[in-house]
Order: sequence, then structure tokens, then C-alpha cells
Amino acid sequence: MPIESLFAAARAVRDRAYAPYSGFQVGAAILTRNGHTYLGCNVENAAYPSGTCAEQAAISAMVAAGEKEIAAIAIAGSAPETCFPCGACRQRIREFADGDTKVIAGGTLGAERVETTLDALLPHAFGPEQLPGLSGLEG
Ligand SMILES: [Zn+2]
Repeated sequence: MPIESLFAAARAVRDRAYAPYSGFQVGAAILTRNGHTYLGCNVENAAYPSGTCAEQAAISAMVAAGEKEIAAIAIAGSAPETCFPCGACRQRIREFADGDTKVIAGGTLGAERVETTLDALLPHAFGPEQLPGLSGLEG
């Protein structure tokens, strides 16, 4: 799937986000190494900390479908400015992606879309390979 289509999928699912408190909607689209796409949107909650991020939801959908390898992820926020993944989501993405995984981030202004890598967003990351002896959990 071309990057443009992946970002379009993130933008489309963004419109389904449940964000009545912040009004800030986010959509995420994951492309896996198997070529499948998984979507997620942010879901807020009256008890604010119980809300979830779009990237988190897309990762859950991917794992629930039996996949664990992110090839690229696109994030689209509802503000004009580029919406990058929050710190916690950078770590969540890292669990299923390597440093050169493509991250496409954008807002409502198409020109503000940024293509970067997970390594650029989360340098010197802590990942599953730092836990020797637990590699049997993979797969
Ligand atoms: Zn997040």
C-alpha cells in the first residue's frame, strides 16, 4: 500500500474518534509486513486517564488479528499541525517495529505531513531484544 493510501486510511478513521472532551481526534493506520492494514482512533473517557490513543487501538487490532510486525504507521490528527505519536505510543510502536520503520504524521494541512522513522522519534530505544531470555515470547 502506498504511503498516501495509508495516510488516507488514518485520516478516514480519525473521523470516527470519540473525543468529546478535548475535541482532538486522531486516527492511526498500521501497515504490517504481511501487507494488511489495521486502524485505530482515540477514545476518550469521562475519567480522563482511562482514554486510549489511536496508535494503541491500531496495535491492539493488529495483535488481535495475529500479526506483530509493523512495516509503517500513519497518524492523522484533527488540528492543522502535524500530530506525532505521544511518548507512550512511540514505545508501544517500538514493541512491534524496528528503528527504520516509517512513521507518517500529519494534521489537517496536507503540506504539514512528515515522513520520518521510529529511530528519529525514539532514539536509543528500549525494545524486546533488551530482555534476553524472553525472546521465546515472540511469534
Ligand atoms: Zn499515544
